[in-house]
Amino acid sequence: MAAKKQIQTDVLIVGGGMIGLTQALALASAGLRAVVVERQQPDAMTAMDYDGRVSTLSYGSAALFEQIGVWQGMADHAAPIEEIRVADNGAPLFLHFDHREVGDRPFGFTVENRYIRLALHNALVKAEPADLIAPGELTSLERDQAGVRGVLADGRTITAALANGAEGRHSPLRQAAGIRCLSWQYDQTAIVTTVRHEGGHGGIASELFLPAGPFALLPMRGNRSALIWTERARDVPALLALDEDAFNAEIMDRAGGHWGRIECDAPRWSYPLGLQNAERYIDTRLALIGDAAHGMHPVAGQGLNLGIRDVAALAEVLTDSARLGLDLGGGEALRRYQQWRRFDALTMLMMTDGLVRLFSNDITPLRLARVLGLGLVNRIGPAKRFFERHAAAMTGDLPKLIRGEAL
Ligand SMILES: Cc1cc2nc3c(=O)[nH]c(=O)nc-3n(C[C@H](O)[C@H](O)[C@H](O)COP(=O)(O)OP(=O)(O)OC[C@H]3O[C@@H](n4cnc5c(N)ncnc54)[C@H](O)[C@@H]3O)c2cc1C
Repeated sequence: MAAKKQIQTDVLIVGGGMIGLTQALALASAGLRAVVVERQQPDAMTAMDYDGRVSTLSYGSAALFEQIGVWQGMADHAAPIEEIRVADNGAPLFLHFDHREVGDRPFGFTVENRYIRLALHNALVKAEPADLIAPGELTSLERDQAGVRGVLADGRTITAALANGAEGRHSPLRQAAGIRCLSWQYDQTAIVTTVRHEGGHGGIASELFLPAGPFALLPMRGNRSALIWTERARDVPALLALDEDAFNAEIMDRAGGHWGRIECDAPRWSYPLGLQNAERYIDTRLALIGDAAHGMHPVAGQGLNLGIRDVAALAEVLTDSARLGLDLGGGEALRRYQQWRRFDALTMLMMTDGLVRLFSNDITPLRLARVLGLGLVNRIGPAKRFFERHAAAMTGDLPKLIRGEAL
């Protein structure tokens, strides 16, 4: 058994997924100490068979990674998104966003989650004031006006001014705090894989709204794209069980020949889809970040980006408190964090939910409305610019790290 030891830190982060690790590094970039407790082995979390997803990172998320010294660890695997095309099933009108209409930089990048995790783990090993305990699990966590005190399964104790719940959708810290969630499941499951195609993708992210759900191809390095194919939950087991040729034929049938011959290039993964939002993001000496606070449908590829904006806002609030000599876990700092983040999260949750409900059906009046809607947005300059800036996550009251500035 490991020797008993007391660990003292500024922030105790529970959950070392992409958000928990990013939070530790963001705090470390401002000289604040953080300890991350993650229950899984780091090697397992960066293995090929852990997570087959590719994330679209908005320009703002990439800017944060650059600021906290993680971007160079994934840049070789990042593919720029230059254009976004959204189409309705069989509709003549479609929405086309070109990054050149809002500036000379891409909307964002796609990076395989495996490489994001690898870059975060490698950076954390080098970051002095940040530490990762993995595999590790807390057996108890007390929070009161005096501070936070966690006990690890091996008997070590961790004391901190603040705890962050970054354990994803089932956050035990959120549940222990009695924070309820608004949540529902969609009758949809996402099939995720990567594909190789004959033709080049030209940096175009393409999303086709089919009656069963959105079908998206996101550009990756080379002639490869990430496929996020949403289907009715009950139809997914049969699709996943198809042999290679039949599976490829189903993909080509939906893709409509734009990319030439398409072949699946990786294992098939599936993720049931739902929405949830915590009724509060804070409690006594506790702040929820990432999916522990909010989770959404991947229709707009924004869940991780939203969590990264949580990180940027919380790190900024805590850095300001530290500079003023204030308590890092004090109510004032936490209220500022919650106020800053609630509106952005609610907007994104409502937007993704609205998109899913409007597009995932074949009811004629709704179909006509959305086709006209897509066409109108495409023709009205300011509306188009609004969506373009949203896609790059460059709207609203942006925290410094998202603007590419140091804390
Ligand atoms: C199909 C699909 C595609 C997506 N595509 C995109 C995209 O393109 N762009 C985008 O921005 N977002 C995307 N998302 C959303 C994104 O993947 C999530 O928002 C993001 O992974 C959430 O990260 P997290 O670290 O908050 O939570 P998680 O990834 O759930 O990590 C939580 C971590 O906490 C650990 N943990 C849990 N409980 C404990 C405990 N008690 N003690 C210690 N550790 C614990 C877990 O082991 C895990 O490592 C997609 C989601 C899906 C389903």
